[in-house]
Amino acid sequence: MIKIENLTFAYKKDSSLFKALNLSINPGQIHGLLGKNGAGKTTLLKLIAGLQYPKEGTITINDHSSTGRSPQYLSNYYYIAEEFNLPSIKINSYLNIYAPFYKNFDKVAFNHYLEEFNIPKENKLSKMSYGQKKKFLLSFGLATNSKILFMDEPTNGLDIPSKSTFRKLIANNITEERAFIISTHQIKDIEDMIDTVIIIEDGKIMFKQSMEDISKKLSFKTLNTDENSENILFTEDHIINKRAISINSTKEDSPIDVELLFNAVISDHQKLTQQFKA
Ligand code: ADP
Repeated sequence: MIKIENLTFAYKKDSSLFKALNLSINPGQIHGLLGKNGAGKTTLLKLIAGLQYPKEGTITINDHSSTGRSPQYLSNYYYIAEEFNLPSIKINSYLNIYAPFYKNFDKVAFNHYLEEFNIPKENKLSKMSYGQKKKFLLSFGLATNSKILFMDEPTNGLDIPSKSTFRKLIANNITEERAFIISTHQIKDIEDMIDTVIIIEDGKIMFKQSMEDISKKLSFKTLNTDENSENILFTEDHIINKRAISINSTKEDSPIDVELLFNAVISDHQKLTQQFKA
């Protein structure tokens, strides 16, 4: 669906943010694009959305190039940016102007999402709080039924009940034809819903694996004593104990701690990625 080949991109002449980056994203899944602040998540989303152009390499969605910005390319996705401006109009007027760009826009579903998020329909968009605006955009994005939905830090500004509503709506709306790409540094907010983990650091894809494969290959546990085992790949001190990732030698599933996985990849990605080879 999305294919990135040999992508090189730089904001400054002498230092590339991305160098020969390759990545493919398939439909039917919720992808978590994880990385520290400044890792390059937003830039990567902007490049895929055709809002920035590669210096070298290609980005295609269903064989259409990002640089062409053709109607066929643009109609594939909806992009919910972290920073945005909304016009000083009411929701209905916004709908009349923007919904017709999406041929599969579902107005009934849109109203349902607004209700789930408790967004009053009579308010002017510009008068809403940041969190309300974000929930409006999430509702709109879901209702477009676009094949790809990019969400950059979608849980920023959302209160705790809204975060659960967000998770519920995302999980209920993923289909075999759609791909959701959620970029965040707030891993806990999305760890229960993602199908694939993509970790980006210093402009490189350090790790990309399905939750299914992570569960097969790795084991996540708490160490109560100074347990030492050859199978342990990474440990992290918590207040009263240690959390560890080890090779899953027993083939039993353990709940995946994505934050621990992220810290392990950032500290030594080769040790982790080796487990997924062959
Ligand atoms: P993330 O979304 O992971 O926090 P970004 O993609 O926003 O990371 O930024 C990646 C790097 O590119 C950072 O070092 C940031 O300072 C730099 N950067 C982002 N936007 C611009 C810009 N418009 N001009 C110059 N540098 C930028």
